[in-house]
Amino acid sequence: MKKVKYLILGAGPAGLTFAHMLKKGGETSFLVLEKEAQAGGLCRSALVDGSPFDMGGGHFLDVKRPKVNEFLFSFLPRKEWKLFQRDSRIFIKGKSVGHPLETNIWQFDLEEQVAYLGSIARAGCNREDPVPEKFVDWIRWKLGEKIAEDYMLPYNRKMFGEDLNALGVYWLEKLPDVSFEQTLRSCLTHRACGTQPGHASFYYPREYGYGEVWLRMAGQLGERIRYNTAAQSLDCEERMVRTDTGEAIAAGTIVTTIPWREFRRISGMPAELIASIQKLRASAVETRYRRQRLDTPAQWIYVPDEEIPYHRILVRHNFCEGSRGYWTETRQERTCLFERQHETGDEKNGFDSGDNIFLNPYAYPLNTLGKPEIMKELLDYCAGKGIYGLGRWGEHCHYNSDVVVELAMNLAERLAE
Ligand SMILES: Cc1cc2nc3c(=O)[nH]c(=O)nc-3n(C[C@H](O)[C@H](O)[C@H](O)COP(=O)(O)OP(=O)(O)OC[C@H]3O[C@@H](n4cnc5c(N)ncnc54)[C@H](O)[C@@H]3O)c2cc1C
Repeated sequence: MKKVKYLILGAGPAGLTFAHMLKKGGETSFLVLEKEAQAGGLCRSALVDGSPFDMGGGHFLDVKRPKVNEFLFSFLPRKEWKLFQRDSRIFIKGKSVGHPLETNIWQFDLEEQVAYLGSIARAGCNREDPVPEKFVDWIRWKLGEKIAEDYMLPYNRKMFGEDLNALGVYWLEKLPDVSFEQTLRSCLTHRACGTQPGHASFYYPREYGYGEVWLRMAGQLGERIRYNTAAQSLDCEERMVRTDTGEAIAAGTIVTTIPWREFRRISGMPAELIASIQKLRASAVETRYRRQRLDTPAQWIYVPDEEIPYHRILVRHNFCEGSRGYWTETRQERTCLFERQHETGDEKNGFDSGDNIFLNPYAYPLNTLGKPEIMKELLDYCAGKGIYGLGRWGEHCHYNSDVVVELAMNLAERLAE
């Protein structure tokens, strides 16, 4: 049996950052196992139609965490990134409106504006109703019936699945927080008021896709990453992992960034905890390239219309220099709609059978009711055994890449102490 001091499962942003922190601290006894042939996880890019294509969906580096940005610039220098101001839109009722909707209602005609404003004024949060515990109720409570029905509920069904009632509300601080007064003010002044969503300013590589920075990080780790090797079973008592290549590797510390349900077998863990791992849910997303040029200045567009398969369009030629075309993101269960449109000859949504398609079986961890309790119990139990869940899948949270890099830095510093 092979033995290492640190075994890291997954060479996405979380695993790569953790490995680099070990390297920086002079550690030599560590190994990263990666299922795929390439590092980068959801942040990988491919070359499609002569330009980069982010296989896991549109990926942009937020400016909010300077320490993270500096760390990433040490692999892909700052001058190789371009800084953008966010321009995102929602395609709704046959028109393209700024995002978030609640600060851009003034872009609708007068009757629609009055209907939206009236609906927000009657929303639970403006009548001091108690905060609901379920996602669907919360959306109506916060944004009113009309934004819920026209945009938020259909869009979220497209992204996360039909059963939105399974979702909790503990993750909604990610949404822009706009008050009724700010919505009213934006209608009167014709400009967006209130807190803007994340990625208000962001970086994207000038010549490459977002995957380049992770490839460079992986390159510096050399043979410490073993590709095409999937972790299959976890023994918590022995702190040992078995791989699909038949190897057993024991470690002083295991850092796992892979989806918990990827383990076919877990031993040395209470049966109730193993059972609760089966309750963790995720959605799969397909990304698909189209060659057409879109007539819009937006970098991305949200599409709530449930008749259209995809939920988001990434307008590549507006953030990737010298490129053409765009790509779409579609939850896997909805991709059959593409085929149906093709069969019926309905090509208005740009279906093209020659397009490039990538499937991400794990794209969004679902924020189901009860998930925080499951994860707390699981992570606490494992930490007591020297096994740490890290990143989007290790912690089963909607973290962006800058967040997981920060978490990996913090965990490495904490363990070094
Ligand atoms: C559609 C979409 C858009 C996004 N947009 C942004 C954005 O604009 N900006 C941003 O910062 N973030 C964005 N994100 C989030 C970003 O993708 C994640 O934060 C980031 O990839 C998380 O890194 P990670 O290392 O935790 O997980 P991952 O990137 O998922 O990496 C996990 C790694 O584990 C490997 N693995 C899986 N199973 C096994 C196994 N059994 N054995 C060994 N290895 C295994 C995988 O192959 C992968 O390499 C977006 C995500 C999605 C889905």
